[in-house]
Amino acid sequence: MFKAKAYSVGSATSPFVSSSIPRRDPTEHDVQIEILFCGICHSDLHYARDEWHSVMPTVYPCVPGHEIVGRVAKVGSSVTKFEPGDLAGVGCLVDSDHTCPHCRAGLEQFCPNQILTYGSPDKHLGGVTYGGYSDSIVVDERFVLRVPTNLDPAGVAPLHCAGITTYSPIRRWGVIKGRKVGVVGLGGLGHMGVKFARAFEAHVVVFTTSPGKREDALRLGAAEVVVSRNADEMKKHAGSLDFILDTVSADHDINAYLNLLGPGGNLTLVGAPEKHLAVSAFGLLLGRRSLSGSNIGGIAETQEMLDFCGAHNITADVEVIPIQKVNEAYERLLKSDVKYRFSIDMASLRSE
Ligand code: NAP
Ligand code: ZN
Repeated sequence: MFKAKAYSVGSATSPFVSSSIPRRDPTEHDVQIEILFCGICHSDLHYARDEWHSVMPTVYPCVPGHEIVGRVAKVGSSVTKFEPGDLAGVGCLVDSDHTCPHCRAGLEQFCPNQILTYGSPDKHLGGVTYGGYSDSIVVDERFVLRVPTNLDPAGVAPLHCAGITTYSPIRRWGVIKGRKVGVVGLGGLGHMGVKFARAFEAHVVVFTTSPGKREDALRLGAAEVVVSRNADEMKKHAGSLDFILDTVSADHDINAYLNLLGPGGNLTLVGAPEKHLAVSAFGLLLGRRSLSGSNIGGIAETQEMLDFCGAHNITADVEVIPIQKVNEAYERLLKSDVKYRFSIDMASLRSE
């Protein structure tokens, strides 16, 4: 065991403070990674503040962070995928049971015994797992991703959650050329959704509550931008969309979006607001529309997404911050004031 530097919170209402956490020495299948960058996902904020208490109560102290890119420092004796010096990534999962039908199908995100990067039982050290707001992490090589070396690592880090969470439903719901696709909320997930839908040549419409993001939405690949608080602008798209990806992190009216779907259209929720959303039956049954959810993606699909990003030069648009600004970053995230993902430069932690 060794000590790593990290930023942790001790309760739902306390700020992040500099602290020290244990990490295991790499066992034979493990990769020890020196973390270079870690994205700040809105899920980190929900979890740190115990907003998902009814589904996933937070265990404190908590070290979030599941958008990790780093440099391999050490490998266990049986590791074949990596060697010291390689760039490597870690997303939301660090282990699973490897034997259930979902794991065997490469869908580790459905494994009933999955181990999340933070807040899950740590079978090696006891207590819970600690995430990427840290200078290092040790992970089984099966859950470590190969990172394209032609991309900026600060912008690659967010692909490990925001990237796969939007790529997976976009692939599953057949977003291709000619489809009219809505992306609701232009934040970390939303801006990746726009980039992927555009890469698959869809006609992308961004729905935002922030009129100031219009130009950015167009630059990111939207063909049209709708300010969702403007009822007339919304009405123009009634019954016309094939697929909508809803990335909103807070309470909002999803019926307004169901009504924009054409017959057979689908709205997939990836946003995970604290409160339940109300659904109008008529919004679904008129037009035989469907409402679904999607949760990250498996390891194989995450690797596919990273390789796709390498080939198409896709990264997240990031604001790189030192870890000492994490509390401020959370306040800005709550105000939808980030363009479009914070990426923590871990050199700032190393030099503390
Ligand atoms: P984010 O960067 O904060 O983006 C959320 C966006 O939602 C904001 O930028 C804003 O976009 C919009 N929004 C915020 N408050 C709103 C409100 N009251 N009404 C309408 N729109 C509002 O967050 P994120 O990191 O992308 O995460 C988004 C959600 O997805 C979170 O709930 C997160 O926990 C969840 N998530 C789910 C998964 C999964 O596997 N399903 C994975 C990661 C994250 P505009 O300014 O454009 O309106
Ligand atoms: Zn996330």
